[in-house]
Amino acid sequence: MTLALIPAPTIAAFNPPRRILMGPGPSDVYPTVLAAQSKPTVGHLDPLFVGMMDELKQLLQYAFQTRNEMTLAISAPGSAGMEACFVNLVEPGEKVIVCRNGVFGERMRQNVERCGGIAVTVDHSWGEPVDPAKVEDALKQHPDARFLAFVHAETSTGALSDAKALCALARQYDCLSIVDAVTSLGGVELRVDDWGIDAIYSGSQKCLSCVPGLSPVSFSPAAVAKIKARKTPVQSWFLDQSLVMSYWSGGAKRAYHHTAPVNTLYALHESLRLLAEEGLPQAWARHQAMHQQLKQGLHQLGIDFVVAEPYRLPQLNAIYIPAGVDDAAVRSRLLNDYNLEIGAGLGDLAGKAWRIGLMGFGARRENVALCLQALGEVLR
Ligand code: PLP
Repeated sequence: MTLALIPAPTIAAFNPPRRILMGPGPSDVYPTVLAAQSKPTVGHLDPLFVGMMDELKQLLQYAFQTRNEMTLAISAPGSAGMEACFVNLVEPGEKVIVCRNGVFGERMRQNVERCGGIAVTVDHSWGEPVDPAKVEDALKQHPDARFLAFVHAETSTGALSDAKALCALARQYDCLSIVDAVTSLGGVELRVDDWGIDAIYSGSQKCLSCVPGLSPVSFSPAAVAKIKARKTPVQSWFLDQSLVMSYWSGGAKRAYHHTAPVNTLYALHESLRLLAEEGLPQAWARHQAMHQQLKQGLHQLGIDFVVAEPYRLPQLNAIYIPAGVDDAAVRSRLLNDYNLEIGAGLGDLAGKAWRIGLMGFGARRENVALCLQALGEVLR
């Protein structure tokens, strides 16, 4: 017997309002990026599209400040970039020093264990940056460690760690570095080649102000050599970088790996083009200037930051919720009355902190002014 067809639901087209996104991401998307995404879809092996992919790679190399050949955007969000780094590099039984100072360091640990690796965690209180002295102790205690993994910009707490110093330590102790730059790319100084970063991943939806769903990654020649020397195949077919590279490199020789998210890649191309047009130093300085402006206004409202001043991320401001204030009620008033989204606290900071994002296109004067005015009115 054939089952009767499930009746078609009657559903109106989805028309989201225009929110002002000042949470931990996704951030406000540049209007020209949204426009780029709605351009006609072409085939993902169309010669014109292949030409755009070559430009995209060049733009990613600029954003990461790297000449790494293996630089591309994974067709999935930042979590897939994280997983790509771990599944390609870490083989069963290999030891990884994982720094934990928030939610995302813990996710790195889970990735290591799912690869059959041995995670040695270096723990910090929430809101602290990763301490290079603690990391060096761990590296001395574990001379057999093969990798050092840490989060450059911890989105759950707003803390910035010293990626340059940590990668120098990794090299000194013969480890490859794996760096989470989901929130840092485009918002604070980041130099992949200069700092000797071996594997790095980011996300399209933070300081690049692109639509969510892509994860830029880059692997150094040393990381590529480690991948090539694997004794076991990468357990994920989709994330196996040696297979994906046949699509991302080689111009006309490109071979089918998966159907690329064509329109989303147009969007990334446009957002990275805008970043290159502005210039990295200018983008870093703009994020810092907007953070300073926000900081002054928050000070006038009597609101404190979670993170000590030298380690604060300009693009992710974690602030304490004033005593006696109803966290959820304030955030829903901001959303409903001002169309303004700020982020709730995560993990240890849930119910204690808000997270105000100043990312990419969102890091601009009118956003800071609106956020301060709205918070002032709602908290009055
Ligand atoms: N790492 C960090 C530091 C993040 O902030 C996030 C997302 O917020 C991720 C990883 C995961 O990225 P996605 O949500 O795009 O999968």
